[in-house]
Amino acid sequence: MARFIFITGGVVSSLGKGLASAALGALLQARGFSVRLRKLDPYLNVDPGTMSPFEHGEVFVTDDGAETDLDLGHYERFTGVSARKTDSVSSGRIYSSVLEKERRGDYLGKTIQVIPHVTNEIKDFIRIGEDECDFMLCEIGGTVGDIEGLPFFEAIRQFAQERPRGQCIFMHLTLLPYLAASGELKTKPTQHSVKELRAIGIAPDILVCRSEHPIPDREREKIGLFCNVRKEAVIAAYDLKTIYDAPLAYHAQGLDQAVLDAFGIAPAPKPNLAVWEDVSDRIHNPEGEVKVAIVGKYTQLEDAYKSIAEALTHGGMANRVRVRVEWVDAELFEREDPAPHLEGFHAILVPGGFGERGTEGKIKAAEFARTRRIPYLGICLGMQMAVIEAARNVAGLARAGSEEFDHEAGVKRFEPVVYHLKEWVQGNHKVERKAGDAKGGTMRLGAYSATLAEGSHVAQVYGTLSIEERHRHRYEVDIKYRDRLEACGLHFSGMSPDGRLPEIVEWKDHPWFIGVQFHPELKSKPFAPHPLFRDFVRAAVETSRLV
Ligand code: GLN
Repeated sequence: MARFIFITGGVVSSLGKGLASAALGALLQARGFSVRLRKLDPYLNVDPGTMSPFEHGEVFVTDDGAETDLDLGHYERFTGVSARKTDSVSSGRIYSSVLEKERRGDYLGKTIQVIPHVTNEIKDFIRIGEDECDFMLCEIGGTVGDIEGLPFFEAIRQFAQERPRGQCIFMHLTLLPYLAASGELKTKPTQHSVKELRAIGIAPDILVCRSEHPIPDREREKIGLFCNVRKEAVIAAYDLKTIYDAPLAYHAQGLDQAVLDAFGIAPAPKPNLAVWEDVSDRIHNPEGEVKVAIVGKYTQLEDAYKSIAEALTHGGMANRVRVRVEWVDAELFEREDPAPHLEGFHAILVPGGFGERGTEGKIKAAEFARTRRIPYLGICLGMQMAVIEAARNVAGLARAGSEEFDHEAGVKRFEPVVYHLKEWVQGNHKVERKAGDAKGGTMRLGAYSATLAEGSHVAQVYGTLSIEERHRHRYEVDIKYRDRLEACGLHFSGMSPDGRLPEIVEWKDHPWFIGVQFHPELKSKPFAPHPLFRDFVRAAVETSRLV
């Protein structure tokens, strides 16, 4: 049966709770334990699938098709454990499930209340799969004191109370602000935040204190004394050059030891940190640098393409180079020639996206990469744009476009080379969608297999003919145009197993031009870079040698 670690935050948001949870997961694995990480988010959206990337950053998709918070991406990148639907929940989902049960009459006429009905629902969620791992790490989104977060805090309090002693611990992240004028670290906000937690019945076992300055021993003692936490369990979290230093840094501060101590696990198994030492070494000692342009729409918020940025870093680590990413706003190319903006980059990546804005610019970027023979990786919408570029500029279909952008019924501006898919096969069953369906959760979501063409570029990159990758889209390249496009040299080198859905396209006589309908970035890990990103960066290194 699992031991539970509940991770909460206080003082301010964005302290890196997700990263701390992920790093702790990695450290427990390094000591030989199995882990699962889980995120409980207080917002009322049923899932982040319908939230704008500007609001909430990237939507991270799991193999089983859940649209989740980007923290699950961190969890996977640090532990290699594939997240599931049951590893992410929001107040919205909890409430909708409670309300559904109420409508069905499951509560037998009782008055439905936050305690116990909502809290029970949360506790049921927490315990899913508890027999499958040694440690279940549950992160609560937001900060203590948020109105929406209260049912979650109450639920974890009850949960720990109901379990045998020693089965659950609480870890709280706070901030120690530094006052330059007096040259002091201030502990008061941490004390208040812990007071707030204790007022709702939760006494933290471990405090992780973010600080820009070294925390002197006497401050640690003071925090311990005022917050009723052992001094060794007051862990410093300093700013890091790279997130991939987090496991080693937290280990050096004693986080994993403090956790094992809190559970009374003695003697503690020795950690094997070789993987993280190698990861750190690769990231800190690059032997060169390449410049990659990401031509996208959500360029103001880097979190919108979090996994892509991380996968490029992993690709760099595999090639021992630093990847310098620059975000280029696709809309720029609708007014200006892309050449002066894209010259000097060693590779171009066009990521996924929704809606028409910026798409003509992305098509220009694909054209630039094709004609200038610059490595190009098109992901999802980036693949669709590359196909439209090929159809318009090479295959002579001047009106080629995507049905996504032809909203007005009756007015057909485009020839739908990319069309709205309403029916497809997942495993052994058929999935159907109708126009006017609710927006949330209605895309082709999660892991699907693809078959790669023998002798193709992608088959060589992957080193296999059968792959499984994660999807999140409504539109597909129409197979109807395959022959015409292949005759021009655009090879449909990856297809769904039934041969109906194009999964990968590549230009035959181009050094490196691949478009994929799925999201390979979601499966890349620092210790196992995704083959497409590894090879894309290798191609960028080659380009950098030519100039
Ligand atoms: N908007 C496109 C579609 O729905 C692409 C989605 C994406 O890039 N994730 O098919």
